[in-house]
Amino acid sequence: METSGMQLGDSSRVAVVGGGPAGSLVSYFLLDLAERVGLSIDIDIYERRDFSVPGPTGCNMCGGIVSESLVQMLATEGINLPPTVVQRSIDSYVLHSDVGTVYISTPLQEMRIAAVHRGSGPKGALGTRWGSFDGYLLELAQEKGAHLIRGRVEEINWNHSRPQVCAKDRPPQSYDLLIGAVGVNSPSLKLFEGLGFRYQPPETTRTFIAEFHLGLEAIKEQFGASMHVFLLNMPRIEFAALIPKGEYVTMCLLGDEINRGLVDAFLSNPVVRGCLPWELASVGPACQCSPRINVKGGYRLFGDRVVLIGDSGITRLYKDGIGAAYRAAKAVAVTAIFDGVSGRDFHRHYWPACQVIARDNQFGKLVFMVVSIIRRLRFLRRGVLRMAEKEQLKEAKERDMSMVLWDTFTGSAPYRNIFWRASQPAFLLRLGLEAGKTLASFKLRG
Ligand SMILES: Cc1cc2nc3c(=O)[nH]c(=O)nc-3n(C[C@H](O)[C@H](O)[C@H](O)COP(=O)(O)OP(=O)(O)OC[C@H]3O[C@@H](n4cnc5c(N)ncnc54)[C@H](O)[C@@H]3O)c2cc1C
Repeated sequence: METSGMQLGDSSRVAVVGGGPAGSLVSYFLLDLAERVGLSIDIDIYERRDFSVPGPTGCNMCGGIVSESLVQMLATEGINLPPTVVQRSIDSYVLHSDVGTVYISTPLQEMRIAAVHRGSGPKGALGTRWGSFDGYLLELAQEKGAHLIRGRVEEINWNHSRPQVCAKDRPPQSYDLLIGAVGVNSPSLKLFEGLGFRYQPPETTRTFIAEFHLGLEAIKEQFGASMHVFLLNMPRIEFAALIPKGEYVTMCLLGDEINRGLVDAFLSNPVVRGCLPWELASVGPACQCSPRINVKGGYRLFGDRVVLIGDSGITRLYKDGIGAAYRAAKAVAVTAIFDGVSGRDFHRHYWPACQVIARDNQFGKLVFMVVSIIRRLRFLRRGVLRMAEKEQLKEAKERDMSMVLWDTFTGSAPYRNIFWRASQPAFLLRLGLEAGKTLASFKLRG
């Protein structure tokens, strides 16, 4: 096969800037594949955070849902998330709306998602028995042979056509390949913009996360193995959920520039106030943050010997960002080991994987557009709930709405697949009938 001539060889050096899921997984896969083909490469992972520290300094701020598709994909790689990392295995959800509440169990026993803390738990979480998800992946990469360099990368430039990395208080280091996996929540993307391959960072929006300490017993009693999801007529909130984790519940709000006013409006919404015996607003968060999320992928993600992955590149809209990081990491590792590390190699072998995610996001936009219409129209909200309620009856054969909702909320299936299932005539007919009945009952009452 024709190669670019820019290959990794024995003793080649790779720098991975960022030790989040994308950085750790790409390091793990590179070392794993190199070992299989008898190649000895050196990998330095630069990471500024210490994931063993509770609170924001050790956390890569996220809802912490690991989709079941990712749980399964990781298992096929021999990566089984340990019970210390999986805070709760979630197999059902409770959908709350102003027109009712419905408990929805997943139809298949194996449909479980993992709820994890990205760091070692919220601020003040002392002696916690839970481990960090990011810390676990980073350790896996280290066990494979990657070297962790704890510190912030402050400058990246070129040294005789090789990328050169300058970390705080360390001499500059040159590499044969530089992988950017810095996410979107640091100014570090700027370091790559100046490298001359016309990289443009992703577009982002602000989200909100808060952790409430309720205690193990209360969490078990109130949540069991369910997460709570809200279908409310609140503009700009695309997704709102309460996700149980150990002694805490994580409140996650995704949407368009979520600000303090919107958070307060959500917490004081009667549906949210009524869904638990305590008001979350009066419990007060143990920890909270407003991270940015990638809503439109970056542009020109690679050049010769440089490539960007994970949130710094193209990720999945709103859901399963960690799953998208896994796919990008795998595609880059395969390209670098088997094809080469030139811009042309990445264009041929990594870019198609990015395009699959980007195309699926177009369907994701349609799915969220439909959800926002449903959120606005009361009779449609009630129709969705009625359809899901009926599916939960023992004798019910169809579980289409339950599955569409589960996959939309958890990110466990491609958006294209969700859209296709939700646009089937039988599905639309059932929804139309339930919505129609609701409309008729509103008219009778009104
Ligand atoms: C509110 C919210 C909820 C989310 N919920 C989910 C969810 O439930 N499930 C899901 O799958 N995804 C979720 N996501 C998306 C998910 O968080 C990201 O897709 C995922 O973290 C991307 O991984 P990454 O490794 O690319 O980036 P990150 O996880 O951001 O990691 C980047 C790493 O780079 C390090 N770094 C940055 N700059 C430097 C530097 N200069 N030097 C050294 N190190 C550096 C950072 O410390 C960090 O560890 C959510 C995102 C948000 C904002």
